[in-house]
Amino acid sequence: MRSMKAIQISSPGNDFELVHKEVPKPKENEVLIKVEACGMCHGDSIVKEGRFPGLQYPRTPGHEVVGIIDQLGSKSKHWKEGQRVGVGWHGGHCFECPACRSGEFGACVDSSTTGITTDGGYAEFMIARMEALNSVPSSLDPVEAAPLLCAGRTTFGALQNSVAKGGDLVAIHGLGGLGHLGLQFAIKLGFETAVLSRGKEKEALARKLGAHHFIDTNTADAAKELMNLGGAKVILCTAPNGKAISELVSGLSRDGQMIIVTYINEMMQFSPANLMRGSRSISGWVGGDPEDALRFSVLTGVRPMVEVFPLEQAALAYEKMMSGKVHFRAVLKMGGR
Ligand SMILES: [Zn+2]
Ligand SMILES: [Zn+2]
Repeated sequence: MRSMKAIQISSPGNDFELVHKEVPKPKENEVLIKVEACGMCHGDSIVKEGRFPGLQYPRTPGHEVVGIIDQLGSKSKHWKEGQRVGVGWHGGHCFECPACRSGEFGACVDSSTTGITTDGGYAEFMIARMEALNSVPSSLDPVEAAPLLCAGRTTFGALQNSVAKGGDLVAIHGLGGLGHLGLQFAIKLGFETAVLSRGKEKEALARKLGAHHFIDTNTADAAKELMNLGGAKVILCTAPNGKAISELVSGLSRDGQMIIVTYINEMMQFSPANLMRGSRSISGWVGGDPEDALRFSVLTGVRPMVEVFPLEQAALAYEKMMSGKVHFRAVLKMGGR
């Protein structure tokens, strides 16, 4: 019997446990991946804290997985053993529901979610469905590729599918795990870019990454500052702060769009007249194609800034992520640092 190490949660709210278990075998439409690296994401807290009804335990989290195909299911046509692949949030779809029939696999009513409905990448091996695999370019370090599968594809997808065009002013609200990627993508997509952050602490980093403007939201009226710059065509909201976001609505330009890409469990309050004036809109975004984000990152040199932890230190990495102390994405690397 082949055995592996994995981190699991046995019931909601429990600690991470390191367990030794049998390496699973892929079914005909699956592959076995030897995991090289797995990024940590706030979405993992759904499993850790049991924030989703009907979750099955024990469960191994992790939906920013990069690894090598170790074993192929019998139905494989495209994939090869030894190939580097990545798996993100989307773990598979049914191919039959109305959404799948129109090619909207992300909206499948019977979809599988990596590390939520199936075991994810906080382990030395994991099973993935073939339709969920993404090809990972060999020029990317697995540790740097991992966060691009969720944080990267979300911020890149949001900006690329937004109303902004090259040269438009785009504001990035928050400069953490999502924001530092959003900022780099915004610059490489050709936007004039403003970073909105509390305090001056992150100004040097924002400038180093290429931000054209930095607005300290502690001391400045950020919406007014954005209007002084002509108004933001897009405000990408990556900081979980409902009140701060509400105040930014009046910093949008005509037809400007506020896009929320982070989980915010707070109410927003603003005058609807502020939306009507200038035909502004507020939307959320969870989609994006991981392979598009990987390809664009290779082409333009966008890379996440990561802190690397061995699998055994998953609890420490999680604690640092949840308390906002990690710079800027935590990544578990199999076989140590
Ligand atoms: Zn995620
Ligand atoms: Zn479907």
